[in-house]
Amino acid sequence: MFTFGNIQQYHKDLLQNNGTCTDAVTHYLLQIEQQQQLNAFVEVYAAEALQKAMELDKKRQEGEPLKKLHGVVIAIKDVICYKDHKVTAASKILEGFTSLYSATAVQRLLDEDAIIIGSCNCDEFAMGSTNENSVYGNVLNAADNGKVPGGSSGGSAVAVQAGLCMVSLGSDTGGSVRQPADFCGIVGLKPSYGRISRYGLIAYASSFDQIGIFSNNVQDAALLLDIMEGADAFDSTALPTASLTESNTDYAGSLQQLPAKKYRIAFFKEALYHPSLDKEIKEKILALTEQLKAEGHTVAEIDFELLDYVVPAYYVLTTAEASSNLSRFDGVRFGYRSQAPVADLTEFYKRTRSEGFGKEVQRRILLGTFVLSAGYYDAYFSKAQQVRRLLVDKTKAVFTEYDAVILPTSPTTAFSFGEKTGDPIAMYLADIYTVFANLTGIPGISVPLFKHSNQMPFGLQIMTAKADELTLLQFSEYLVQYHKSYTAQNN
Ligand code: GLN
Repeated sequence: MFTFGNIQQYHKDLLQNNGTCTDAVTHYLLQIEQQQQLNAFVEVYAAEALQKAMELDKKRQEGEPLKKLHGVVIAIKDVICYKDHKVTAASKILEGFTSLYSATAVQRLLDEDAIIIGSCNCDEFAMGSTNENSVYGNVLNAADNGKVPGGSSGGSAVAVQAGLCMVSLGSDTGGSVRQPADFCGIVGLKPSYGRISRYGLIAYASSFDQIGIFSNNVQDAALLLDIMEGADAFDSTALPTASLTESNTDYAGSLQQLPAKKYRIAFFKEALYHPSLDKEIKEKILALTEQLKAEGHTVAEIDFELLDYVVPAYYVLTTAEASSNLSRFDGVRFGYRSQAPVADLTEFYKRTRSEGFGKEVQRRILLGTFVLSAGYYDAYFSKAQQVRRLLVDKTKAVFTEYDAVILPTSPTTAFSFGEKTGDPIAMYLADIYTVFANLTGIPGISVPLFKHSNQMPFGLQIMTAKADELTLLQFSEYLVQYHKSYTAQNN
C-alpha cells in the first residue's frame, strides 16, 4: 500500500523502485472517492492526473533525472487559476467559468513536474472562517465530522489532513491558510505579502491576499515555497527571489542542518491574556514558553495595545478592496447571468449580482461600498489606513528586538457547524490572531503542536519580520522537533 511521509522520502522511494507515481495517484484517487463525504474537492482531475503520472514514471524509468516536484500530488483551492480547468471561487456567479491561463504559482509547480489532482472547496471568494459560505456546501473536518474545517481554505486543509493529496495550495487574506491548518492539525504557511505572485489568484483584497501552503511537515512547505516564490512580470508586487545566506541557498535546504541558535521570542500580553482565548490553549502555550526558556531561549511578554483594533481595521479595509475587486462580476461577459426579464441595465446588474453572490459576499460588498462612500470615507477607510500604518511601524520595532513572535492561531479549537453563522461579528472576532500578519505583510505559520482535551488539534502561530521566511521556517522546524522529543521524554 502507498504511504506518504514527506516529498524527500517519496523521491527516495521512487528512485529505489519502491513504488511509482501511478501508485501514488491511484492511491489518492481512491482516498478521495472513499472520503467523498468530507466534500473537500470541487473537481477531481482523475484521468489527466493518472496520465501525467504514467508519463513521469516512463521518464524516470528511462533515466531522466527527477525535477524538484516529480510526481508530487497537489490540490489547489478553487480561487487559483489552472488553464483550461474550471475556477469558480465557490460562487454561483462564476458557474461554468474556465481559466484562460494558469496562475504563476501553479505554472511553477507544473514546471517542476507536479501533478495537480483537483480543485478544493472553500468559502465563496475566500470570505469566511468555516467554509460554510460555499455554493458547494460544507466541508467536514476529518478529525470530527461535526466540526468545521476552518476557512476559507477548508477544502485544501482537509485534503491534506485526510490524506487526499500530498500538499495543497490555499490563499490567506486574513488567516485562511493558518486557521484551517490550526483546526485540522496540519502545517499552514502564509508567506510575506508579495513572496508568491498573485497572478491568477482571484482577488479578494489585493493588498492582503497571499497564496499559502498546507502540508504535513515544515520541510514540504519550505520546498514548495522555494519553487513558487520570486519576482513575476505579471505581478509588480511580487518580491524578488529571497537571497538567503551563503550557507543557506534555499528554504528546504536550510532545514537540513538547523542552526544551534538561541532565539529571542516575544508574545503579546494582550493576545495571550485575551478574554476570548480558550484557557487550555493559553496554558499549553504558556507551558511551552517555560520550556523554551529552560532551553536557553529568551521569551518576553510585551505590550501590544493595538490588538483590539486589528479586526475592525481588517474588515474595513478588506471589504473596501473587495467591493471594488468584485465589481467585475456583472454577468455581461462571463459567469452567471440572471434570466429574469429586466427593464434596464441597472436592474440587470442588480438581478445578476443578487442571484449570483451569496449572503456573506453581498454583506461585504455593501460594507465596503459604505466605508468608501463620500461622508464615511474619512471616518472609516482613512482611519483604518492609519491603524494599518501604526501596526506596520510597531511591528517593525518589535522585530528589531526579537526574532519571532508567537501567538495562538485561533482563540478556540474548531467550531461546530452553525455555531457562529448567525453572528457575523462573533465570527469576525475569531480572526483576532491571524489578520495581524496580513495587515502588516509579515509571514506567519501555524504548526500543529497540540491536542485539546476536547480531542481537537490546535497549533501554535509563529511570525517573523517581513521577508524573513528563513527564520520562520527554521524556528518552526526547530519547535516541531523540540516538541516531539519533549513529549516523547515526558509522557
Ligand atoms: N476569515 C477571514 C475572512 O473572513 C479570512 C479570510 C481569508 O484569509 N481569505 O475574511
